[in-house]
Amino acid sequence: MERIMRRFLWNGTGEGKRAPLVKWDLCKASKPNGGLGILDLDCFNKALLIKWLWRYIIEVGSWWRELIASKYQHKHSIWITQTLKYGFGSSPWAGISKHYSTLWKLAYFDPGNGCHLSFWYDCWSPGVVLADSFPRIAAAVTAPEARIADVYISSGESFSWVLDFNYRLRGGAESEKNELLDFLNSLNFAENLHNPCRPVWAPNVGSSFSVASVYRCLADDAFPGVPDFPDAVIWKNIIPPKICFFIWTLSHGRIPTIDKLQRVGWELANRCELCRQSEETQDHLFASCGYSMNVWNLIGSKCRINTQPRSSIIDVIRSWPSRSSDGFDD
Ligand SMILES: [Zn+2]
Repeated sequence: MERIMRRFLWNGTGEGKRAPLVKWDLCKASKPNGGLGILDLDCFNKALLIKWLWRYIIEVGSWWRELIASKYQHKHSIWITQTLKYGFGSSPWAGISKHYSTLWKLAYFDPGNGCHLSFWYDCWSPGVVLADSFPRIAAAVTAPEARIADVYISSGESFSWVLDFNYRLRGGAESEKNELLDFLNSLNFAENLHNPCRPVWAPNVGSSFSVASVYRCLADDAFPGVPDFPDAVIWKNIIPPKICFFIWTLSHGRIPTIDKLQRVGWELANRCELCRQSEETQDHLFASCGYSMNVWNLIGSKCRINTQPRSSIIDVIRSWPSRSSDGFDD
């Protein structure tokens, strides 16, 4: 499917074959990150699967959740299922449940009073599931089914974390236990003791879960693009998409000027056909060529924008105003 999308982007619907000018991964980055925002099907599929893990958390009492829970409920947590392996019957839940680790990078539980969350197996601190982060001592505890409130013991006005183990910890396990206690003591758990637990969608503070939000997080992670890209200058509704696309390709330095064709083996004499004085490179053709500078000056006088000489085309693009109030859109 992606091969068809890629061929359509660079070749259109016509016959023939044209080489892609920009890497496909960069095309899939978001526009603010220098891409075209083309949908990555793998990330989108993951986002749709993660939606079911989120719904399993929030739709307590729904019939489908009861059905899944009756078959796959995690034995120590009421909010998650087991992570199934493929071959576990023919359940589509096997393909869904393997994405818990991704979900916990994006969501967590505000623990509240800790009465309904598994100490070891629920994610109640952003990005951390204790059984995964501290596996050696998780395997040694006497009560793997403990709620947070079972482990967080109050005595008068003082609180402490109490963990019991099946055997005496030594060496690496002992230091792992100390790391865990340091982590727990850094949480200020006592602040929320009077609230019930609640799931928190972390990527956007105050916003609710959406597939688009999951997709954006996954895609930005997989396709980071380039930093500090002038997307607001390039993608404007008033400019025809074909021109925006050309400027986008130009801004990545991917226009096939003669110097680039020479690099891939074309035997061509390199001379700028506009001024006939320099070699044709992208920066010369669009920024420093005398002919081009006359064109920029003409545009600048019509649009009332500053077109002082620049050495590279990306500097020219960055100098363009990005808001209509700057006069460019007029
Ligand atoms: Zn020239």
